[in-house]
Amino acid sequence: MQRLGLVDQLGASSPGSASILRAGRLHPVPPGSVLGIPTRVRSVLESRLLRPGDKGRLALDLVLPPRRSPADESVGSLVRRRLGSGTTERLVGPLLGGIYAGDVERLSAGAAFPQLVDFEHDAGSLIRGARRARRRGGGAAQFLAPRDGMEVLVDRLTERLDRATVCRSLAVRSVDRMRGSYVVTAGDRALPAQLVVLAVAPPVAARLLEPIAPDAASDLARIRTVSTAVVHLAYDRASSPTLQVGHGFVVPAREGLSITAATNVSAKWPHRGRRDLLLLRAYFGRDGSDPLELSDVDLIGRAAAEIARVLGLPADPVLGLVRRWPDSMPQPEVGHLERVARARAILARDAPGLLLVGGAYDGVGIPAIAAGVARQLSARASSSAP
Ligand SMILES: Cc1cc2nc3c(=O)[nH]c(=O)nc-3n(C[C@H](O)[C@H](O)[C@H](O)COP(=O)(O)OP(=O)(O)OC[C@H]3O[C@@H](n4cnc5c(N)ncnc54)[C@H](O)[C@@H]3O)c2cc1C
Repeated sequence: MQRLGLVDQLGASSPGSASILRAGRLHPVPPGSVLGIPTRVRSVLESRLLRPGDKGRLALDLVLPPRRSPADESVGSLVRRRLGSGTTERLVGPLLGGIYAGDVERLSAGAAFPQLVDFEHDAGSLIRGARRARRRGGGAAQFLAPRDGMEVLVDRLTERLDRATVCRSLAVRSVDRMRGSYVVTAGDRALPAQLVVLAVAPPVAARLLEPIAPDAASDLARIRTVSTAVVHLAYDRASSPTLQVGHGFVVPAREGLSITAATNVSAKWPHRGRRDLLLLRAYFGRDGSDPLELSDVDLIGRAAAEIARVLGLPADPVLGLVRRWPDSMPQPEVGHLERVARARAILARDAPGLLLVGGAYDGVGIPAIAAGVARQLSARASSSAP
């Protein structure tokens, strides 16, 4: 953001926390939790989400010896080993699984939440590691986003590209090797390139790489993705009840709803939108179900009905808008880091000058992706140095 001159554009989310739906009722995530790991005794004791036995079991994390094996394991396995099944199923699993629209029993701890692995490794306990992270982060978790929307990131980046031909909204059909360099075919244009940065979801990357690096393509084809949809809803604020839901809530799969989570946009990002409207976002899509099969009318209808049931808002919002995100949630399953490293090593050998970047390979979210791009470029610079 600094290098793009966008720091002034950044707005922070307001302080607040989320809730988890359990048996049809909302329960706040214990205040002070980091990645769902509780850090404060009092907020655990006061939580009605966790049972007394869950609370006793999670305290064992402070005395259990850390695991020594470096082998990857699932997020569910790591959290259950440290905090017990109750806390995994009721608190940490729904929160962390929700971030990937995935199943914590399949997601790789090392790839999806390396912080948790570091907590255990460095502090000997998830709770102690989470406490240290909270102290380092200065307390409340904050999200940052450009005030004019994420699009400014792409706009500014394209403005800053020197000597570049920018073609937006054009699908790349193929990438071919030609005497040591590449030809990228996008639409009806054939673009020569020395360096190709492939920043697409694994199914697309696998298809494009199949002719030039089939072994890398077959590794990438094994990375499953989940499609998601977001329904934006607006309500007349004057006729809506005051919501006691903080930034929003997460819906575990066992609750049997179609939506997986909802954000109270008006509370989380108060500077956005009109003051007379209450804005919410409802999320669809989890491992094993495809929301893109539903029509816009169905998605809006289900979102509004379920939000009405959980939050008591009117069942007829003044506005409903659907955004579809095909293959938007790659699932980094156990063994993911090895698979990506192998694919990259094959590319470095068989297709030098072709870089693989993005959330599917380096972790969800802009910070992890930017760090991954920097690592790829510096690895390339050092391998081509004399
Ligand atoms: C609902 C939702 C909410 C999220 N919220 C947050 C958040 O609050 N904070 C956060 O940090 N992260 C968030 N994320 C995660 C974040 O969006 C992703 O980690 C990030 O967008 C991944 O970036 P990427 O470049 O790897 O892939 P993408 O953003 O998926 O970009 C891949 C691009 O490739 C394009 N493409 C596909 N095929 C072709 C082709 N043949 N030729 C050319 N282009 C092609 C696609 O159109 C797409 O634009 C959220 C994700 C979702 C789905």
